[in-house]
Amino acid sequence: MAKVTSYGAASMVTGSCHLFEVGSIRILVDCGMIQGESWQDNYEAFGFDVASIDYLILTHAHADHIGRVPKLVKEGFNGEIIATQATLDISQIMLLDSAALLYEEYETLLRKALRRGEEALVREPLYLKEHVELVYTKKIRKVRYGELIQIAPFLNITFHNAGHILGSAFITITYQEDNMQKRVVFSGDLGSRNRLLLNGLEDVTQSDTLFIESTYGDREHRPITESIAEFRSAIIETMERGGNVLIPSFALERTQEILWLLHSMHEEGILQKCTVYLDSPLAIAATKIYQKYPLELNEKIGLHVALGDNPFGFPQLKYTQRRIDSMEINTVEKNAIIIAGSGMCTGGRILHHLKQRIWNSKNAIIFVGFQVKGTLGRNIVDGAEFLRIYGDEIKIKATVHTINGFSAHADRADMVNWMKKIEGLHHIYLIHGEVEKMELFKSYIHQQLDCKVHIVKKGEEIYL
Ligand SMILES: [Zn+2]
Repeated sequence: MAKVTSYGAASMVTGSCHLFEVGSIRILVDCGMIQGESWQDNYEAFGFDVASIDYLILTHAHADHIGRVPKLVKEGFNGEIIATQATLDISQIMLLDSAALLYEEYETLLRKALRRGEEALVREPLYLKEHVELVYTKKIRKVRYGELIQIAPFLNITFHNAGHILGSAFITITYQEDNMQKRVVFSGDLGSRNRLLLNGLEDVTQSDTLFIESTYGDREHRPITESIAEFRSAIIETMERGGNVLIPSFALERTQEILWLLHSMHEEGILQKCTVYLDSPLAIAATKIYQKYPLELNEKIGLHVALGDNPFGFPQLKYTQRRIDSMEINTVEKNAIIIAGSGMCTGGRILHHLKQRIWNSKNAIIFVGFQVKGTLGRNIVDGAEFLRIYGDEIKIKATVHTINGFSAHADRADMVNWMKKIEGLHHIYLIHGEVEKMELFKSYIHQQLDCKVHIVKKGEEIYL
């Protein structure tokens, strides 16, 4: 009997890792990093025999879906990796960046521990750059949306566009059991239908079973048109009073969405006096990958590319790769729009820009992504009066804009409408969410669909 066991993102938001077994074939769907408070759990054993995995499927290149792949390889995975070309490209820059950060943190901890004579207590980094490189020496199959991938005579897999980030997919696994054809869908992360850059989430017509993420299973998003209008007026207002704008942003997807919006504003002649700084090497690398795949983007963006236009570029845009160029931005007095990571102000170059500019009432900070509790970004959004950055206490006088409609995740209405189109669906398993939100999502689904809904626990074996 086919079986699914969740080794991560079971009743939690991160660390996505699900094992599907049928006959003698073992397929791992995603192998993500555990983020937040339980981060140290990444060091623990996976809970399954790594060397016995035949296939690793990657739904998309966010860290919580791919972040432990180098650890998997380091610990003996020798199967085949299956993903879209864009996911493989983005994963490579994300994992190299992750390895560099892990090493930086390790060096800092080691330096401090040496002073205390406690260096033996410092753990080695979770993985190194060489383990990321090792991933790309494995057998890799690049797939397109809709392509039928035969794994065995009784088993095939198809990737479908999930509309979440570039290259993202949900997966249909079709298999024969007891002379019957069965289907199971793994959602990965799902986007909504109205995305700025991507084609929207594809429909799935048939499946018996669905494993679905439930990040926003408790809410509905505001329409994106409202968010675009808010974003534009925040920029225009700040420029009119001679201020500067800081945009803490995630390197992937959100940054490219912001660049596209600024590109449109440039075409309308609104940005003439500004300079836009993309101050993040990772975001610069990600943007270059987006430029490589115009056919994966929606018609509107594709048309710009076909006409020879770069939808993520405009004359006022400057890439600042080096740290020294980033520091140089401090000398700009007005009309700077600075896009820098991290998206929640937990580190990265945005910190020095905040320190430089947030005490001045002419300036503005625009949050374009969700801010998790306990992060510096969330403190600002929640109305903190002071910030402590690099040891200095700084008063927040800049205008704070919080724009919530740019989410890359489908909301509960999007997800249920999508499920309603799945013929034959009788079991829904909720993964990738906080337990309280999953309970709310479960009752929301029950109101609208005649299906069994179950919240998956870590390590629980589910027979399909
Ligand atoms: Zn994601």
